[in-house]
Amino acid sequence: MSLTKKIMIALILGVIVGIGLTFVPDKAFSMLDTYLLAPVGQIFINLIMMLVVPLVFVSITLGTVGLGDPAKLGKIGTYTVSFFLITTAMAISIGLGLGYILQPGKEGVFNTDQSYESAEAPPIMETIINIIPENPIASMATGDMLQIIAFAIFIGVALAFLGEKTAGIHRLFEQANEILNWLVMLVMKAAPYGAFALIASAIGDAGLDAIGSMAMYMITVVLGLFIHGAVVYSLAIWWLGRANPLKFYKGFFPAMSVAFSTSSSNATLPISMKAAQENLGVKKEISSFVQPLGATINMDGTAIMQAVATVFISQVYALPLSPTDLLLVVLTATLASIGTAGVPGVGMIMLAMVLGQVGLPVEGIALIIGIDRILDMLRTSLNITGDAACAFIISEKERRKEEKAAKA
Ligand code: ASP
Repeated sequence: MSLTKKIMIALILGVIVGIGLTFVPDKAFSMLDTYLLAPVGQIFINLIMMLVVPLVFVSITLGTVGLGDPAKLGKIGTYTVSFFLITTAMAISIGLGLGYILQPGKEGVFNTDQSYESAEAPPIMETIINIIPENPIASMATGDMLQIIAFAIFIGVALAFLGEKTAGIHRLFEQANEILNWLVMLVMKAAPYGAFALIASAIGDAGLDAIGSMAMYMITVVLGLFIHGAVVYSLAIWWLGRANPLKFYKGFFPAMSVAFSTSSSNATLPISMKAAQENLGVKKEISSFVQPLGATINMDGTAIMQAVATVFISQVYALPLSPTDLLLVVLTATLASIGTAGVPGVGMIMLAMVLGQVGLPVEGIALIIGIDRILDMLRTSLNITGDAACAFIISEKERRKEEKAAKA
């Protein structure tokens, strides 16, 4: 049986068992979760996380060398960031639009007495200044993706510039890349078991009662995620990449399912790069540059959730948003999704920044936090799909350019 099929079965079984577990007494579930599901899931996450930092460092360095001249890197970088920003703004608009059409916060009984202690969101300017690391070893130790990316680009440019002089180190990076890719393949074999345990644990833990009054909010977010994937990405792949979106989704499915179970763009990175390179034929140097950057700054699923959540909270508290507020939401949610780290639940922390910007109570987050894990699984799948779509489109464009040049 192919790995994709195994993962698909694991997903379905995970959901069924997870729902079944919500009927099991709390104590029994907690035992099962503590001693079986959570450890199996965590071991799987650790296995992939173990590869993320070395893989990002090595593959971005090689990707930069592969792109050759810095001007090409600049061009691809500009296209990538523009694609990320435009699709994120579209995602927010879809979220806001659906929030107003479906009005998830208008009906239903919501307990607005709960309190919520918002964590400090990192200031965006600080994040931008800190892209250049003071100490690259510390960046690797703490897994600061943007800093690792920046350092790797510098090393890659130096290797490309020095050419023959540093051929040995270049070869060393290539061999390290071989080792890491082989390990990704090995770890993927554990994906069906890891995915099953993570999903069953997350759904069992959330419980079905929490969903009750939040159903309309959840439906609105899920619909937004679906529309963004089915319309925006599909059109981009078809129009800009001149390819069949269905084939894209089929090839990328293994990565989406791992994102669904881990709720972490960062943890899924080794698998999403592998799926893009091997199943979709994305050029290695493009995938290794675009996808790690995307996993760090491009979060369209998170942006949709933040837009719907903002409208939802404004409806629950009956504090309407003015047209200026809506524009502010588009701006701050774009920044918030850029600032969201690719780990579980951070999108929710960054939501406080959007709410604060338009004067909505952060306590509103208490309403949605209970069911956020399930939505996190779904939005993370969309988050990494946006990165892969961008890498795929750029790679197809490059391929066409090369073919044209070869013919001329
Ligand atoms: N879990 C998301 C990710 O890793 C981020 C978030 O929305 O919380 O992509």
